[in-house]
Amino acid sequence: MSKPIVAIVGRPNVGKSTLFNALAGERISIVKDTPGVTRDRIYADVTWLNHEFTMIDTGGIEPDSSDIILKQMREQAVIAMETADVIIFITDVRQGLVDADLQVATMLRKSKKPVVLAVNKVDDFKTQEIGIYEFYNLGIGEPHAISAEGKMGLGDLLDVVISHFPEGAGENEEDDNPKIAIVGKPNVGKSSIINKLLGTNRVIVSDIAGTTRDAIDTVIKRNGKDYTFIDTAGLRRKSKIKEELERYSIVRTVAAVERCDIAVVVIDAVEGITEQDAKIAGIAHDRGKGLIIAVNKWDAIEKDDKTQKKFSEKVKATLSFADYAEIIYISAATGQRLPKLFDTIEQVLESQNLRVQTGVLNEILTEAVAMQQPPSDKGRRLKVFYMTQVAVKPPTFVIFVNDKKLMHFSYQRYIENRIRDSFGFIGTAIHFIIREKQ
Ligand code: GDP
Ligand code: GDP
Repeated sequence: MSKPIVAIVGRPNVGKSTLFNALAGERISIVKDTPGVTRDRIYADVTWLNHEFTMIDTGGIEPDSSDIILKQMREQAVIAMETADVIIFITDVRQGLVDADLQVATMLRKSKKPVVLAVNKVDDFKTQEIGIYEFYNLGIGEPHAISAEGKMGLGDLLDVVISHFPEGAGENEEDDNPKIAIVGKPNVGKSSIINKLLGTNRVIVSDIAGTTRDAIDTVIKRNGKDYTFIDTAGLRRKSKIKEELERYSIVRTVAAVERCDIAVVVIDAVEGITEQDAKIAGIAHDRGKGLIIAVNKWDAIEKDDKTQKKFSEKVKATLSFADYAEIIYISAATGQRLPKLFDTIEQVLESQNLRVQTGVLNEILTEAVAMQQPPSDKGRRLKVFYMTQVAVKPPTFVIFVNDKKLMHFSYQRYIENRIRDSFGFIGTAIHFIIREKQ
């Protein structure tokens, strides 16, 4: 199972950011948002005792000047309810209980997600703890006194948070089926694909606003072999905060991709490939996962004999960092080429686990070096001695050279391409480690 997700919700100035920073320490992840616009802190990985979880800070939402606090809190609460496994609702002992707290507590109560109530700024437990009792009136259980700034009461708070984690969350996988994450923007057809593969309606597909559903693992058998599909759909609420939700859906995507062997990035043929699709593919690429681009809704566009080729060119241009990705054209609606999805998955699994013998590898290398002379700098030429494969998933090669600085990216790319010409390595990144040897 994925790491559980914990969200922090509360009014401005109650201490959300302080609590986030206190728990996250230095391990705060920076997620790049709309290119060139904001670099926003959204989530951090936290380890407490033996538990690991991902914490999200919904406090990054800035209300417009006209916005009222309550509206902002409602939005936060929605994001938390849609995304998190456990919600920390934080209030302020100094300000006491206010109306906005009551309203948000009512929303959270309806979500049926576990809510842990923290009362912050209890800097002096002896004199101030008495102040926390009025927060029982929120009707979301026992208030826990903390001081985010003084780092007091945090351990007890986390103990309660962890007690609400789903059983087995964050633990290692129990089965060794290949794990396929179906990822992509909302509405590209992820649920429909899983449904069609499954042939039944075990996964709910719906356009109804407010349908929520967490990532579900679905085991599908094909030719006697089990595959576990990790589905990240579920963030489908249609509202003004759709963009915010898409931003947080990235957190789910990362969690799913981390667990998978192969990421199937679903894109919408009607819409074409977008920056957001590239960002999602980048998550898989960065982690060395298998990568399949499934262009869905292929039934819904006008086609001639050049349409597919043109589409592939656009995809390759947008995903130039991952030109090894396999592209397939499918329709969840008609089932077109879904069997091919399985064939492609099998090919990618094979590529990821392929081991090339050192002897064979060096024949390719010697030939490559003979055909294109290694680069030189200030009269000193790169010498490539030999290479060997040290890992699979992703296939990783160590190349021994005379001087690391002389190994240009373009020459490494050339060697990579020669290896791919010989062995394929379809749909998988391959990694290189350059070592010096005298
Ligand atoms: P946010 O708007 O909810 O993210 O709140 P911040 O984390 O920015 O905190 C708002 C203010 O409360 C800041 O001035 C913090 O220094 C202060 N604050 C946060 N935690 C504590 C605490 O435990 N005790 C006291 N006295 N002040 C705190
Ligand atoms: P998700 O949010 O990525 O899980 O997307 P859904 O599976 O909920 O699909 C979103 C919408 O696209 C629904 O209205 C589907 O009926 C529609 N859809 C999904 N796959 C296809 C397809 O292959 N062709 C067409 N024409 N529509 C599709």
